[in-house]
Amino acid sequence: MKELDIHKIRADFPILSREVYGKPLVYFDNAATTQKPQCVMDKINEMYTTVNANVHRGVHFLSQAATDEHEASRRTVQEFINAASSNEIVFTRGATESINLVASSFCRDFCREGDELVITAMEHHSNIVPWQLQCDYYGLKLEVVPINAEGELILDELEKKITSRTKLIAVTHISNVLGTVNPISRIVEIAHRHDIPVLIDAAQSVQHRKVDVREIDCDFLVFSSHKVYGPTGVGVLYGKEKWLDALSPYQGGGEMISSVSFQKTTFNSLPFKFEAGTPDFVGTAALASALRYITSIGLENIDLYEHELLRYATEKLLAVSGLRILGNAADKSSVISFLVDGIHPYDMGTLLDKMGIAVRTGHHCAEPLMRELGVEGTVRASFAFYNTKEEIDMLISGIQRIVQMFR
Ligand code: PMP
Repeated sequence: MKELDIHKIRADFPILSREVYGKPLVYFDNAATTQKPQCVMDKINEMYTTVNANVHRGVHFLSQAATDEHEASRRTVQEFINAASSNEIVFTRGATESINLVASSFCRDFCREGDELVITAMEHHSNIVPWQLQCDYYGLKLEVVPINAEGELILDELEKKITSRTKLIAVTHISNVLGTVNPISRIVEIAHRHDIPVLIDAAQSVQHRKVDVREIDCDFLVFSSHKVYGPTGVGVLYGKEKWLDALSPYQGGGEMISSVSFQKTTFNSLPFKFEAGTPDFVGTAALASALRYITSIGLENIDLYEHELLRYATEKLLAVSGLRILGNAADKSSVISFLVDGIHPYDMGTLLDKMGIAVRTGHHCAEPLMRELGVEGTVRASFAFYNTKEEIDMLISGIQRIVQMFR
């Protein structure tokens, strides 16, 4: 383990030195999107300046160079999550599109009327609505695993939800609202005992801790580039080769075909079967650059440092009178949702913003969870490894000033 040089790290993120309303920016909305290190922006510039050409299509030099870069990025992602083969890495537009891809192809190929899908009460809309669309279309049933008062999944209830009609379990690794880290290896173990595949929504986890798909043994895993310090518009779908092989294509177009005639089209091999149209090869190169950047810092170091921020912030927040934290799981990541008696989350967020402090307010794309918690919304502060205890002190004194204003 090495101590992070936060001063040096912050210098890698130009946006962190800007001011908002004449105040230094304190960026605590990392669960929504992360800021970008200079190397990611440089990579985008380099790609357009020196390599730009369409991939997989041309015999010319630049097209080969762009293709090499794009496929090298795929291998970087493969290594990052320890997939067995780069054929198991499909590039998409984001975690949302990755889930829609699996939901659409899996339900079409493997589900019949009356079959069941299992999700949890703490899912993001992106891991609810794609399944609901399929449920409506094919007459499937969506089962929901409840949570306890601490915001942890009730695993016994998961076991109870599994029936002979259960076809797939989709669960988030880390809740974007509660910060709860779910025991995904245990969930996969339970599911596999019943021969049920599992999709892991890792949109909130790959940026915080080492995720090893072979160790977890999940069947599918998804994440978004923009939450892991990469560019927007790129996402990853990991799928075990046996599953990706078995699934029908999601979208049709160039790249995903082997041959086309008006009578019959045959499809390309993995992973191209799922990548219709020109991929964002500039984005994938920049994502690879982001992954190399955080790998060089070390996810174990990031995890430790962010845990210290979480511990520090939790202790300080709980000392504010009338403040309560929603989500107190034993295993928690660096997301804190809170409410202060008598202060609407929107007011809290707006006033903090005027102090230069960016937090999230609202339902965080998890309306069913809000209903479960009996609240309309929360204030959410989410940390990254470039944040500091001094910034947390600024948040706390900001909240205290707002509390004074309202009392
Ligand atoms: N799942 C979780 C847990 C998330 O937090 C998010 C983003 N807030 C998503 C899925 C969707 O990610 P994207 O919008 O990048 O597709």
